Amino acid sequence: MNIDTIKNGYVIDHITAGNAIKIYRLLNLEKLDLVVALITNVKSNKTKTKDLLKIGKLIDIDLDKIAFIDPDVTINIVKNNKIIEKKKLELPERLINVCKCNNPRCITSTERNLDQIFNLTDKENKVYRCNYCEMMLEKDKFLY
Ligand SMILES: [Zn+2]
Repeated sequence: MNIDTIKNGYVIDHITAGNAIKIYRLLNLEKLDLVVALITNVKSNKTKTKDLLKIGKLIDIDLDKIAFIDPDVTINIVKNNKIIEKKKLELPERLINVCKCNNPRCITSTERNLDQIFNLTDKENKVYRCNYCEMMLEKDKFLY
């Protein structure tokens, strides 16, 4: 497959430089049988660089996970070599089984069958708190 053209799949554009690998890991793309192109540090203008992620198949992707890492990305949905939709994302209100609570006394560390739930409590500062113990989510504590 030519990495410039994707027949069917996604082109995730305007990813903040350095975040494409996090999206790649959080979506578990290495475990799926598909072509993925991860392109980092593309010049987007004179001073800024961005990352790009191309996924060569229209799989179900969890947009909340992508939005959590980088709400400013644009998701281009490609079908038959054409972009059929451009999606903008918003920071999700709730994260379910995306991150793990770091509080050893949290009920989620003993009750292993509980979902890991975090709620957005401060949109401006991107603060999430555990649904059970209110512990603030540490940056990049993903459930890979
Ligand atoms: Zn907790």
